[in-house]
Amino acid sequence: MSQRLQLTLAILKPDIVANPSVLKNVWTRMLENGLYFVMSKRVQLSAVQAEQFYAEHRGKFFQNRLVCFMSSGPVWCHILCGDDVIGRWRRMLGPTKVLKTVFDQPDSIRGSFGLTDTRNCAHGSDADATAKKEVGFFFPEFDIDKWYKEQHKFFQNDLVEFDPDKLQHFAISDT
Ligand code: GDP
Repeated sequence: MSQRLQLTLAILKPDIVANPSVLKNVWTRMLENGLYFVMSKRVQLSAVQAEQFYAEHRGKFFQNRLVCFMSSGPVWCHILCGDDVIGRWRRMLGPTKVLKTVFDQPDSIRGSFGLTDTRNCAHGSDADATAKKEVGFFFPEFDIDKWYKEQHKFFQNDLVEFDPDKLQHFAISDT
């Protein structure tokens, strides 16, 4: 049995959601890397919501283009779980700045599909506390404590299967 699994928030940003073949490729990479999808939803952010989500970047030179981009079309939000999933998902993404990452890590998601430093494919929480806050932002209905109590053991023992229509893993004995 593995240790307590981590949760994280992934956002697939409007640049890749607008491109079905890239979106499918990214989902495939996530599944092939053994990431579990706990909950998924497609969201259209308003500029106000995008500004709130990226509040830490208030006043930075790229804030306006970031907020415009994030509210320019739908995003997919996923609660992911897995062993060290925060680090694993961020390593799959590659570094933030696409214009450098295309040379340094061309096989990463951002290196493969990133368009600019703003339009860089996806987001991943950077720590447990941030993940908790960011999951709450997009999935206020998700009860983390209840999930660890009732669902975690199924994921920990790989007793889950993936439903491609719902983009979600379900406990095998729970479906
Ligand atoms: P992340 O955790 O790798 O997404 O990086 P940050 O939290 O530092 O930045 C949030 C988002 O702001 C990034 O994913 C980019 O979309 C955007 N961003 C960050 N730094 C820059 C920058 O120097 N230039 C531009 N244009 N966008 C940036």
